[in-house]
Amino acid sequence: MALTGIQIYKLLPKTNCGECGVPTCLAFAMSLAAGKAELAACPYVSDEAKAELADASAPPINIVEIGTGERKLKIGGETVLFRHEKTFLNQTGIAVLVTDEMTDEEVGGRLERFKTLEYERVGLNLRADLIAVKSVSGDTGKFETLATRVKNETDAGIILMTEDAGVMQAGLNSCADRKPLLYAATKDNADQMADLAKGAECPLAVRGDSLDEVADLTTKLTEAGLKDLVIDSGARGVRKAFEDQVSVRRGALLSKFKPLGFPTIAFPCEMTDDFMKETLMASMFVAKYGAIVVLSDLQGESLFPLLLARMNIYTDPQRPMATSPGIYEIGGPTDDSPVLVSCNFSLTYFIVSGEIESSRVPAWLVIVDTEGLSVLTAWAAGKFVGDAIGIAMKKCGIMDKVNHKKVVIPGYAAAISGDLEEELGDWEVMVGPRESAHIPAYLKEWQA
Ligand code: SF4
Repeated sequence: MALTGIQIYKLLPKTNCGECGVPTCLAFAMSLAAGKAELAACPYVSDEAKAELADASAPPINIVEIGTGERKLKIGGETVLFRHEKTFLNQTGIAVLVTDEMTDEEVGGRLERFKTLEYERVGLNLRADLIAVKSVSGDTGKFETLATRVKNETDAGIILMTEDAGVMQAGLNSCADRKPLLYAATKDNADQMADLAKGAECPLAVRGDSLDEVADLTTKLTEAGLKDLVIDSGARGVRKAFEDQVSVRRGALLSKFKPLGFPTIAFPCEMTDDFMKETLMASMFVAKYGAIVVLSDLQGESLFPLLLARMNIYTDPQRPMATSPGIYEIGGPTDDSPVLVSCNFSLTYFIVSGEIESSRVPAWLVIVDTEGLSVLTAWAAGKFVGDAIGIAMKKCGIMDKVNHKKVVIPGYAAAISGDLEEELGDWEVMVGPRESAHIPAYLKEWQA
């Protein structure tokens, strides 16, 4: 059973050194009891105390890993109901379904789209994560062939979908080394599926006809030594499936009900035949609280907004998104191309670089480290001021790349031009437009 804050406090060093990020051991104990801190944050806990605190410090929702290597997907581990309370940690895995009754072309199309539909935003590579391989025919040979094809043609994490233990074994024969998620253990096959999951050291999904049935199954499986479980409440109506997602999260976090303390999987692909509705449902499960969503197909017009929604929901609201400081070459600049300077707030960087690109005037963009703050905020905070920009420009080497001595600063930062000129010596500081939408016209004029 979970320990109270006071019980945890008694096991801490009580030196109030503050290294864990809060000023006292008592405050840390309270955070730990509420699932808002991790025991590892205190470097001074004794081994004996660690053993006693293991239960209290374990995340209320288990962390489960699917796959291997770079594409390993980590799900679960969430500690809050609402993103603004702290942050959501492990983003929803997006999966596409292939079945052994699809034609070669249908499977090939999905695998191809899985590999090619990827997008770069704010320095991140956005793409789908998993391929769900489903046995519809019940034929072991067909299932093994399909799983082998998915394994050989992609680096995806794999979900093997069948409730027949014999068919599951065939799938495992082809891709057990990829550590697939086995879907699913039910009340009828739990023992056999548990043996397969244990033998192959793979995570196991549990499907029931209700949350009560799921809780009975997870209790039975954890008693059998399985901890890497994923929950499917079995609901395929949107409203019920959504209610179940919320109940699982609230049960795990607020009631500390261990049998529901696992990440969940949702199947928008089994809830509608309308692909756009399916995407809408998927976005709902990304927000609350699907750890995996399985789609019937991947299409750019639906996948891209879904990936963006996921990125927005799973970024830490307490930390501004920042781009790496340095020199960015846009459009193949030469030594007489203009030099622009801006802050490293990601949104600013992407808007400014996009406008420079659309101007078709090759340019150098120097991004100054403002700790992710936008131009005006960074200026007010003393991070986007003459001496800071001057030092950044000298350090990044832009002065060796151009044969002129002109730099363009954002219009909103016009007040720093004097300081910057002083810092840069014989450089001319030009004040650019206030709005980035006016950058193309400004650059064309500059070029003329
Ligand atoms: S780091 Fe450990 S010893 Fe120091 S205040 Fe935090 S809990 Fe106490």
